[in-house]
Amino acid sequence: MRRRLGCLIALFSLMALFVSAGGMGQPFGSRAAAVNNSAREEQIARAAEGLRSQLITQRRDFHMHPELSNREERTSRVVAERLRALGLEDVKTGVGRYGVTALLKGTKPGPVVAVRADMDALPIQEVNDVPYKSRTPGVKHACGHDVHTTIELGVAEILSKMRGEINGTIKFIFQPAEEGAPAGEEGGAALMIKEGALESPRPQAIFGLHVLPVIEVGQIAYNSGPAMASADRFVITVRGKKVHGAYPHDGVDAVVVAAECVTALQSIRSRRIDTTEPLVISIGSIQGGNRYNIIADEVKLEGTVRTLNEDVRKRTQALMRETLAGVTTAYGATYEMQYEEGAAVTYNEPRLVEEMLPTLRRMVGPDNLVTRKPQMGAEDFSYYQKVIPGFFYFLGVGNRAKGITAQIHTPDFDVDEESLVIGVKTMANVLLDYLDKHKAGTPGS
Ligand SMILES: [Zn+2]
Ligand SMILES: [Zn+2]
Repeated sequence: MRRRLGCLIALFSLMALFVSAGGMGQPFGSRAAAVNNSAREEQIARAAEGLRSQLITQRRDFHMHPELSNREERTSRVVAERLRALGLEDVKTGVGRYGVTALLKGTKPGPVVAVRADMDALPIQEVNDVPYKSRTPGVKHACGHDVHTTIELGVAEILSKMRGEINGTIKFIFQPAEEGAPAGEEGGAALMIKEGALESPRPQAIFGLHVLPVIEVGQIAYNSGPAMASADRFVITVRGKKVHGAYPHDGVDAVVVAAECVTALQSIRSRRIDTTEPLVISIGSIQGGNRYNIIADEVKLEGTVRTLNEDVRKRTQALMRETLAGVTTAYGATYEMQYEEGAAVTYNEPRLVEEMLPTLRRMVGPDNLVTRKPQMGAEDFSYYQKVIPGFFYFLGVGNRAKGITAQIHTPDFDVDEESLVIGVKTMANVLLDYLDKHKAGTPGS
């Protein structure tokens, strides 16, 4: 949960999910390419299986030592040490505080592609009685970022031994503070980008994944186009004029004006934005006034705007100002609005999705690759996608038979660790297949 923007990603799993069997895209690629890939795929599958116990141990180690956003000191040290031990090049630490980047250069020429994992945990007390229970009171990997980091390390390990199969370069990005930096601090994807994570060399595409407990282990879910919402925060201050509660006509009642504003803002959703465009305007907090018999001169309204479309996002902000100006003027009041743009829409470039679907389909089988409705929660992977095309997909970690059903951001969240091998295999193949398709001379590169 992002402290200042409300939950970044929690909503998507707390809301009803409608997952339907995927039917998008057709398998493509030549038969020859498929034959070549199958030997390599076998090699990756065997290597991932061989890493099974190491992956579980690594994930449990991260799980036992969770660190809050912008405090991922140990996690980032473990990551950087591992990347250096694997022989990756240009291992940089301290990118956006505890961020780490590294390069894996293949022996064959080709473009640069990036993969990102987030590393931070949440201020939630773990309640699961498991051997790998969090050892830090009040802090838990309740969003699966321990799994993401472990998977990306596993991918680095396997591919570091397959340089001859890599057509180009893979940039590994380990990111802190996805859940939001503490108040007054910068952090997350935005800060890593600001400090050069997407430069020298600049990747031409980026991939990421997130655990998803509402689908079973062995399944992958994805969206083409918008996947998760933009998440903005606003604070509106309505100003009136204080007066004795018995004589409201001598003052301007900020409480009544604020109430009108709350209702009027909802009309933006219902009457001013295309009804087929998802938009949420939620006011989560109202504070104002100081005594029962005094007309309030100031009320603060705090809330969030979520959309799946950047144009709707901009238009909503303008309409909010127009509405607030109109309502407050009508009552003789004034207003001020601070509007902070947070994560952008997590937008999976449809062409990139289409291109990678055959890989995902091969990894889990066509019946286990599912589409899902876009969610109004947010994810700061979107910042990378504002710079380069990206694809963020969801890895099934639930297992109803084993009772692993808790949502992310809950005290009893856990994952089926079988997902680790699947996650490593899938991401390794996604990266290599992407580089294959875009190596120099390949049509469409
Ligand atoms: Zn989260
Ligand atoms: Zn997360």
